[in-house]
Amino acid sequence: MDLVGSFSVDWLPEKYGNSCTLGGVVTRKGVCLHSGVETEVTLCPSEDFGFYVSWMNDAESPIRLKPEQVINSQLCTTLVLGNHRLSTVEHLLAAIAGCGLTHVHIIVSGNEIPLLDGSSIGWIEAIEEVGIIQLDAPNNLAPVLKKPLMIHKGSSVITATPSDSCYLIGMIDFPYPAIGKQHFSLELTPSSFVKHLAPARTFGFKDQIDHLIEAGLIKGGDLKNSLVCDGTSWVNPPLRFADEPVRHKLLDLVGDLALVGLPKAQILVYRGSHALHAELADSLSKDFL
Ligand SMILES: [Zn+2]
Repeated sequence: MDLVGSFSVDWLPEKYGNSCTLGGVVTRKGVCLHSGVETEVTLCPSEDFGFYVSWMNDAESPIRLKPEQVINSQLCTTLVLGNHRLSTVEHLLAAIAGCGLTHVHIIVSGNEIPLLDGSSIGWIEAIEEVGIIQLDAPNNLAPVLKKPLMIHKGSSVITATPSDSCYLIGMIDFPYPAIGKQHFSLELTPSSFVKHLAPARTFGFKDQIDHLIEAGLIKGGDLKNSLVCDGTSWVNPPLRFADEPVRHKLLDLVGDLALVGLPKAQILVYRGSHALHAELADSLSKDFL
């Protein structure tokens, strides 16, 4: 399947300036990376600003997603929502926020979001199927950054500086020759997100994956939903982009920022991680709204 450049983007809003919801209800099923079980996700239009989650067959009212709900972000982003936990939310949230949606209700059947092909494209296709409706309201979801912000953890750093649009600059540096140093930058718009970030798949390293399998994690991981690197080469080529790993890191960043909204800021991230992204989202929601 040749994905690169094959997506139509004319159905997307031009910018993130307006509020948008879905044109209908759409459901996807799939296997989850960590638990290995199949779950179902239904995306519904919402009248309320923000992204809400509720569980199928559960009377609890939908819970609005916020950065302070992140509890575990080592391998994926996990949220605590009332009595439930919800893992691996980042690729779905990236698709929703990246497309420009601001009003969405997500109904889930389990505690993890399906991985689909390891990128956001399956969710983009679901959203395209029902379309996007622009609402008659500005997008108040975008946090306004008043001054520069910098967060670092060890050798990783993320900075955000005020800007008139959302610009992302990603840099990675892995000790594996197959990846090495990569950088990618773009002005984020719904169409640039779909073309340049959404198809980039999650990736892992063969030696670490063996340990994760032994530890009972990544039960649903296989060579169809993650790129696997053995150090000098890729176990399951071809890549969709030569720099697919750094693009996927930016996709994860968009998913983690979706918890607060895509800010008008230039965000630079070096050796990013979900934990670093979550701290930025948290700071944006606490200090700058
Ligand atoms: Zn990811």
